[in-house]
Amino acid sequence: MAETIVTPKKYMKYLGIWIDDKTIFDEHIERTCKKADRQVTALTKILPNIRGPGSNKKVLYGVVPSVLLYAAPVWARNGFGRRVHLDNLEGVTEADKLRERETTVNEWQDRWERNHSTAQWTKRLIPHIKSWLKCDFKTLNYYVTQALTGHGSFRMYTLRIEKSRNDLCKYCGERDDPKHTDFECNRWHAQRTGLETYFGAQITPENLLETMVRNRRSWTEGVT
Ligand SMILES: [Zn+2]
Repeated sequence: MAETIVTPKKYMKYLGIWIDDKTIFDEHIERTCKKADRQVTALTKILPNIRGPGSNKKVLYGVVPSVLLYAAPVWARNGFGRRVHLDNLEGVTEADKLRERETTVNEWQDRWERNHSTAQWTKRLIPHIKSWLKCDFKTLNYYVTQALTGHGSFRMYTLRIEKSRNDLCKYCGERDDPKHTDFECNRWHAQRTGLETYFGAQITPENLLETMVRNRRSWTEGVT
């Protein structure tokens, strides 16, 4: 890449950012909004039977901003009148791109750590954004999405959206939240023990996802 001359086109994409020849980033912003909109639609379909007042909005609150803010430090600067060093695409090296990506992810991690109001359960499960992003074999399904967001068939949640009368686990009577279902409830003891045997360690909210993203097999074991 260092010796390659990049012929400017009207738009081009790299590292997930649409760059236009004037680096105004209109194209990126428009495409990102459309992508976020598609995610809203897709996630709404994933959660058909727990829909309650405002529930989709709450679930998406944690997910969609990550789409909208992807690489924001790169494209947003121009909006504030600051020069982006990617103005001139000629001579931009792979090292430049990697550094830019590293900066973006680090800033994202800082935001994640400073956020003490939304998506706290997800944050507990995914403390390190980098290892999560690096994992290219992770797949989400209905159950994994619920476990990750904490929005799903947990009594604490269904009570909140007025879909149940109390927040007690229907299997054991304890207070039911994602931590209870995934890590404590005896109803799932056998599954949990199987997973712990495979992982060779007790699973906790802090180590489950970190362990699962280590390799493809761990991910498959974790989601099944
Ligand atoms: Zn229970």
